[in-house]
Amino acid sequence: MTAPAPRPSILSIEAYAPGQSKIPGVNRIIKLSSNEGAFGPPPAAMDAFVETAKELHRYPDGGSTALREAIGKRFGLDPARIICGAGSDEILLHIIQAYGGEGTELVMSAHGFTMYDITGRYAGCRVIKVPEKDLMADVDAMLAAVGPRTRIVCLANPNNPTGSLLPQSEVERLQKGLPEHVLFVLDAAYAEYVTEPSYEAGAKLVDSTPNTVMTRTFSKVFGLGGMRVGWGYFPQAICDVINRIRGPFNVNIAAQAAAVAALAEPDWVEKSVAHNNEWRAKLSAAIEAQGIKVWPSHGNFILADFGTPARCKAADEALRSRGLIVRGMASYDLAQCLRITIGTAEECTMVADAIAAFAKNG
Ligand code: PMP
Repeated sequence: MTAPAPRPSILSIEAYAPGQSKIPGVNRIIKLSSNEGAFGPPPAAMDAFVETAKELHRYPDGGSTALREAIGKRFGLDPARIICGAGSDEILLHIIQAYGGEGTELVMSAHGFTMYDITGRYAGCRVIKVPEKDLMADVDAMLAAVGPRTRIVCLANPNNPTGSLLPQSEVERLQKGLPEHVLFVLDAAYAEYVTEPSYEAGAKLVDSTPNTVMTRTFSKVFGLGGMRVGWGYFPQAICDVINRIRGPFNVNIAAQAAAVAALAEPDWVEKSVAHNNEWRAKLSAAIEAQGIKVWPSHGNFILADFGTPARCKAADEALRSRGLIVRGMASYDLAQCLRITIGTAEECTMVADAIAAFAKNG
């Protein structure tokens, strides 16, 4: 007997390879491969997480009510048009499943976030990856790629793994240029790190048209990657669609409590962003001082470009020999690059030292 076959489009998907957390034979490892927050979880979130232990026999609030209200208050949004999910990945999954499908197309930029590709194919969409200019989404090329079968356009701003930030005027030009039948998914997973004054994560665009949605996460600046909690902000009609298909208890009880507490932690975001921006600049400068290109980044990570895949692999091995795990980018067609999360001051210094030693010896 042979195993039953899935839908053919699924067999073209390569499984997502998450950042590793172990190096065989190395005891002390420092994980800088998944763009997690540098400061660990907010203390109030840890307390709230522990508190939920005595309620573990209960299903969570299926509507994530307290969390949606806390998000609404923090960001000035209508809680009725927010949906929480098990990471923003889950929100993206539902959006793409609901609006994509066989015979449709999903448009993304060439080095856009990989889950758009995986989820798009899962939904049966033809995924069109549009060439970029200097690792930045090219609005004219994206608009030109949109056709009658296009149902979804995904843009992460800032983008992972490139770190690029599309100027606000360009984001708006892209949105305005899309035909009515196309859903514009603005993924703002790294929004908190952006210091560009004209930047707007997406809520205004969601409020101004019926075809735009914004996704956000607690996995990055809020330090809750392990809890799997994210959210989306929608026009009412799209919110109603996603609420029909999401799991009734999709955000677990501890995740809801931890996220509410994280939002209430005083100065957490300010402190984290100040640290990130200081050390992103310092680490970028230290790597560039070794003659290695670093792409400008607006997230909590940098993309270091070693010129060739072979040199990049050697650098990766040099980092690993010191217990430093960063992310190879071959699956993004950027085999010459390593993506490095901005960690603590000590961790960033270790990376800078390791790369300086590599550059000297290699
Ligand atoms: N969007 C982007 C651009 C990301 O980098 C990530 C995390 N790698 C996500 C969405 C998903 O984050 P999560 O599911 O943890 O909310």
